[in-house]
Amino acid sequence: MKRAEGERIEIKVYDTLTRQLQPIKPRNGKVVHIYCCGPTVYRDAHVGNLRTFLLSDLVRRALTMSGFESLLIQNITDVGHMSEDFEEDKILAQSRREKRDPFAIARDYEARFHDDLALLNISPADSYPRASECIPMMLGHIEKLFELGYAYRGDDTSVYFDSQKFNSYGELSGNRLDALKPGHRYEFTEGGAKRFHADWALWKAAGNRSEMIWDTPWGRGFPGWHIECSAMSLHYLNGHVDLHIGGIDLRFPHHENERAQSNPVTGDEAVDLWLHGEHLLFEGRKMSKSAGNVVLLRDVMARGFDPLAIRFCFMENRYRSQMDLSWASIAAGQSVIRRWREKYQEWCAVPQELTVAAQSEIVKIHGNVAEDLDTPRALIALREVEKSNSLSFGEKRAIWESLDSLFGLDLLKPPQEVELPAGAEELISARARARSEKNFIESDKLRDQLAALGVQVRDTRVVRMGSLQLSLRQRIGYPFHALLQFLVR
Ligand code: AMP
Ligand code: ZN
Repeated sequence: MKRAEGERIEIKVYDTLTRQLQPIKPRNGKVVHIYCCGPTVYRDAHVGNLRTFLLSDLVRRALTMSGFESLLIQNITDVGHMSEDFEEDKILAQSRREKRDPFAIARDYEARFHDDLALLNISPADSYPRASECIPMMLGHIEKLFELGYAYRGDDTSVYFDSQKFNSYGELSGNRLDALKPGHRYEFTEGGAKRFHADWALWKAAGNRSEMIWDTPWGRGFPGWHIECSAMSLHYLNGHVDLHIGGIDLRFPHHENERAQSNPVTGDEAVDLWLHGEHLLFEGRKMSKSAGNVVLLRDVMARGFDPLAIRFCFMENRYRSQMDLSWASIAAGQSVIRRWREKYQEWCAVPQELTVAAQSEIVKIHGNVAEDLDTPRALIALREVEKSNSLSFGEKRAIWESLDSLFGLDLLKPPQEVELPAGAEELISARARARSEKNFIESDKLRDQLAALGVQVRDTRVVRMGSLQLSLRQRIGYPFHALLQFLVR
């Protein structure tokens, strides 16, 4: 959409540090520098992780619509992230389980992460630096912390950050040093190696570890997890981060420690704005391996759902609220997207009319997203456009076309037409006959035969003779599902 000069809508989000809404601004006046903590690539991302990864995409789409440029860096953690009990690197633990080279595992899951993002229409970051390939950057950062007096060598030869030297430690998360008790499970400690219980390792001595280790001036070892994000964000974003994004669990200790490591080196607040996304539950419960309820995007697709139905569900909830996803909400999301695509096909039969009324709807809906990413409100407004009696088809078309790139739901795509597998048409006709004769035993039998061909049949209200419409999203490698509907015409 064309914007009048000076009509640039500011995008505001809730900043965890100042605890208020703040506008996202490029410090260099041109390009907004964004850093989003990426995946630890020892397993597939689950739908919760994907909710957080969608955040940077939503922000960028809103910024683009406001005429801002942005540069997004997302790291790939392939070393240094310790397991919950701090006994082993997550990638090395997985390497032991799969009996495969740790880097081969990391590359496989990294590729699958990119596939998932593409399926959700999350536009790629400008760069995905891997921690294991940025070790010199981290060493340089640690050296600077030594020079500034923030780093020291522990009795175990690991290098630690002196948390008491950083005066504003705890401002991001509210976990002040004087309240953190020894034994709190926030950072692994070799008994007695650190000067203070809340200090954390910048570089860990290799000890018995023989893989994923590097030679340094302080001996052989591997990086701590937090130093990766300080070093990589400042290196790739030229010394300043305008907006830093991650899930709420990263606020402490990961981001609190990152801030302590970065600020002394930049001599300033290294990050202007900290944006945290709340967690996703599935059917009312925290997703966990032990509960057996971890849902992946491929599980969603294996049930025949369009992956963008998940994107829709995420946008129906504000990023700052904990969200409960369910199979029922995914199905509901899918049916709205399908209906909106069908509507657009009707509307685009007439020329686009970008009238004042249409423009004001567009600005209003963009404004909803701009106000702390209020996507639920923006989706309600889209529904109102759909149902409006005062807007013409041409105006609705203009609104859909202008906003499609803001939502990323592919609303201009026609619902896909499909070729039925051989024999399916005959079965469908026979089933329709059986139903009209109220022979439900026969119709159920035919439904099962269709299912065996990979065709799912769903009946809705039949008025007149009913025309047949197929809607399908087929993905290679996933079961073939077709939804057949007798639509009201
Ligand atoms: P990880 O791969 O475990 O390092 O996590 C990647 C991102 O997903 C981080 O920003 C986490 O904060 C975020 N995350 C983890 N679990 C969830 C969840 N259930 N809902 C939303 N985000 C999550
Ligand atoms: Zn990080």
